[in-house]
Amino acid sequence: MMRQTPVPQLFVFDLDDTLMQTTIDYARARDALLRFAFEVFCSKDSRSLDEINDAMILEFRELDRTRSQTLDNGFIRFPGTCAEYYRILAARYQMAHDPLIEQKFLALGYEVFNPSHWAERGLIDDARELLTKLKQDGHHLMLCTRGDETVQTMKIKVLGLEEFFEDPDIFIVEKKTEERFQRMMAKFRMQHALISEYPTCWSIGDWYDADIAPALGAGFKGLLIQRDEQYQNPILEKSEIKIDRSRVTIVRDVSKITTLYQGGRLK
Ligand SMILES: [Mg+2]
Repeated sequence: MMRQTPVPQLFVFDLDDTLMQTTIDYARARDALLRFAFEVFCSKDSRSLDEINDAMILEFRELDRTRSQTLDNGFIRFPGTCAEYYRILAARYQMAHDPLIEQKFLALGYEVFNPSHWAERGLIDDARELLTKLKQDGHHLMLCTRGDETVQTMKIKVLGLEEFFEDPDIFIVEKKTEERFQRMMAKFRMQHALISEYPTCWSIGDWYDADIAPALGAGFKGLLIQRDEQYQNPILEKSEIKIDRSRVTIVRDVSKITTLYQGGRLK
């Protein structure tokens, strides 16, 4: 029996914490930084280890959250938060500013941009399988990611994502907007003008407000990946919005999307 070729659909993928793990690098860098801060400053503090640690985590998160209101995920924000946190602690404990220690704080922050971590982990489990399957079946894949052009381009190269997403279908944007999704849908429709059916367009991502909500506005359906709570990025607020489950499917991870697809459930 001849296998029927599916009607091409559009799948727009998010990058960070969807196709690759990212928040884990921030969590690890923060932990390493706080361990180091503790070594440097603990002799000046009479509180218990746990108390100091808990206070530092909250304080550091809050500092990074504040800075994220004006700075994106580029090279400046996170390492800058680390260096600033050093200066705050040095002032609080009345220790002379030591440029070498500040450099160490900064270097720990830059670890989140270390491509060897991305290369080592590669794509999230089963993402390659899903992308390969969709591509083989003739679906149109686009990548839409928020963030710094240099950082995101480096990730795409290190992970070999150009194999699945052609250059004009990779969008590195400051913000994902409804209009951006409309343009992606229009591009898809133009390229597949002969389709008589009205195929579904999907947006796949781990953050409702950024990846799903603007896509729904443009007529997409959503596949929302629930993230590992342990690595929940504190700068990303949990959405308060009631999710329309008739248009948004919540999945545990990418492998679940493969299962849905293979079961003919992504229509
Ligand atoms: Mg993401």
